Amino acid sequence: MLAVAVAAAASAAAADPHSVAVRISSWGPRPAASDREARAHGLMERVFHTAGLRVGVQEFRVPGHGRSRNVIGVYDTPRTCLRIVMAHTDSAPGAPGANDNASGLAVVAALAGRLSRIDPRCDVWLVATGAEERVYTGSPDHLGALALARRARSHGARRRLQWALSLDEVGRDRPFWLRSPASAVRPTVERALLDAGSRGHVPLRWVRDESSGNSDHREFELLGLPAAKLGVGAGGEPCRHMACDRPSRLDPKSLTLARRMTAAALRAH
Ligand SMILES: [Zn+2]
Repeated sequence: MLAVAVAAAASAAAADPHSVAVRISSWGPRPAASDREARAHGLMERVFHTAGLRVGVQEFRVPGHGRSRNVIGVYDTPRTCLRIVMAHTDSAPGAPGANDNASGLAVVAALAGRLSRIDPRCDVWLVATGAEERVYTGSPDHLGALALARRARSHGARRRLQWALSLDEVGRDRPFWLRSPASAVRPTVERALLDAGSRGHVPLRWVRDESSGNSDHREFELLGLPAAKLGVGAGGEPCRHMACDRPSRLDPKSLTLARRMTAAALRAH
């Protein structure tokens, strides 16, 4: 009975990204390799299981801090092409991380239960990554994304991966920006994602990264795999990595638009 109740709660919660983002960020800061990061990963694992996805946990070291992980939910289709949607689970120490990045996690959770309705064109990996915040890990790389990109490469990503999309700070300040380090819009990456925005009536524009990028998409691109980030727009995130990044600042409408855009991108031919 308890298992049924927990599963029902996980499935009801996952349907509403705002309630998931509020819940995760109300626990407090989730630095890489902390107990709270693990708790948020546990929630995502339950959501993926409830959604009927094949779940894998990829552990890795966070030097000087302990261990973290990527929680991966796989949705198989008859096709071999692959699309990845990821969001980082950790926050900076001292920051409840509502927009950065319980918002992205909550959209991933909301997508999990909708995949059969979305009817994705390609195989999908939904991923709650760990240890993204370099201000805390001190690593030059987003460690979870680095492990994930290598795993994707060992699963044929050079041939199969159409794009990996990092959802990072999608809880307020729209219109969103789509960001990538590419020198121009690529037809099968940025163009495909911008078109999904248009089809979902989600205002969106592409802005090139200043350097190699500041979210999980960076490690894919550095390995030569196509990736981009959907996130905060022109207003930026004044509470990034700060105590004021609280649940009360989240805008349910922004979360819904991020979910709708990503669903359209997964469905696209
Ligand atoms: Zn972030």
